[in-house]
Amino acid sequence: MKYNRPRGTVDITPENSEKWIEMEQLLRTVAANYNVKEMRTPIFEHTELFSRAVGDTTDVVTKEMYTFKDKGDRSLTLRPEGTAGIARAYVENKMYALPEKLQKVYYMGPMFRYERPQNGRQRQFHQFGVEMLGVESPYVDVECMLMAVTIVEALGIKNIKLHINSLGDDESRTAYREALKNHFRPVLNDLCEDCQARFEKNPLRILDCKVDAKNPVMASAPRTIDYLSEKAKAHFDKVCNLLDDLEIEYVVDTNLVRGLDYYSHTVFEIISDDPKLGAGSTVGGGGRYNGLVEELGGPATPGVGFAFGMERLMLALDDEEDEENGIDVYVMPLGDEARDLAMQIITMLRANGFTCDMDYAGRGLKGQFKSSDRFGAHLSIIIGEDEVKGEYVNIRCNHSKEQSEVKLEDILSYIENHYEGDHEHE
Ligand code: AMP
Repeated sequence: MKYNRPRGTVDITPENSEKWIEMEQLLRTVAANYNVKEMRTPIFEHTELFSRAVGDTTDVVTKEMYTFKDKGDRSLTLRPEGTAGIARAYVENKMYALPEKLQKVYYMGPMFRYERPQNGRQRQFHQFGVEMLGVESPYVDVECMLMAVTIVEALGIKNIKLHINSLGDDESRTAYREALKNHFRPVLNDLCEDCQARFEKNPLRILDCKVDAKNPVMASAPRTIDYLSEKAKAHFDKVCNLLDDLEIEYVVDTNLVRGLDYYSHTVFEIISDDPKLGAGSTVGGGGRYNGLVEELGGPATPGVGFAFGMERLMLALDDEEDEENGIDVYVMPLGDEARDLAMQIITMLRANGFTCDMDYAGRGLKGQFKSSDRFGAHLSIIIGEDEVKGEYVNIRCNHSKEQSEVKLEDILSYIENHYEGDHEHE
């Protein structure tokens, strides 16, 4: 019997996991820099949460959710995105009552969507996301955008553009919805079945349709920013002014509406033309969602956030081999007695903070030297029969190729001295 991984999933093997860890560390560092704290919520939630929060006319909810009944007959869903869970947890943990009004949190982990797998699109993928809840201010929108831009720049992703748009507040959206309906009504029969259903329930979703994307009626559709209320326009103008002052390049992209229902006011996407990702590829996006927390039973609370697809960030990360990732010591025993001694040595060295490993396969010196090389070991400790008898080992620096005989009781101090005296290895 042979088992394969489910379609649309990948295994991250040790060969790739270093790169993931590197990226995760970078994301955590940027988060700390912005004083954003980590929040961890369940991988599955009640199905109702997503249909409520994400919207029951969105593709994510109607077509892409992994929904199942548990043994207690509850309908649960593997999270397709992170904001709904964070907003639910914000309410459930009464975070709105905390003394610090603006709660800034980030999350990182797997998300699940039943989509057609293709390059950069999986069924289990990972997102890093940030949510800032509790303060309605264009400054917070810009804080989010700045953080998103900082991340892509820190990862060395080339040719990025920040696309922004405003969907406005309730008043703007009501006016806009009417305008959209007037625009699409005469051509409704030419649109796909889904769009015909969206027309009544949520006409904004029509603009997101993948089937009708090329229909010219899309390009000529009214633009949200022409229907902004005074208040919504002032908010958006302030966002633009702040970006100008900070000299952050952006384009106002009036077609940007984003695929999830909870957005209001500012929405944004980071689009990269990095050749490694393919032209015009969205690495992440987000926006403001002032109605969401209230929709989930909490007090009216403004929020703004964004999420990056981590696989896309990975594709863009440089492939440079990191030579500093080698281990400190590789121990090479020859024979059973030497192996006993080797295990004692690595245990002692690990307890003192050194990263080490040894040969367990019982190979000859040549094979063991190859492993020492593959692991990028700075030092190799060779233990043959003579060494066991004489109670010493041979320590070889793999950089200078110098080799010394070191008494067992002096191993730790020898290695410590070696590191202190040689800054190249630190
Ligand atoms: P969304 O939550 O739809 O706004 O998506 C945010 C980001 O997550 C996107 O810009 C993509 O980078 C990434 N993403 C969304 N769906 C997938 C998927 N099925 N596979 C890989 N990445 C995805």
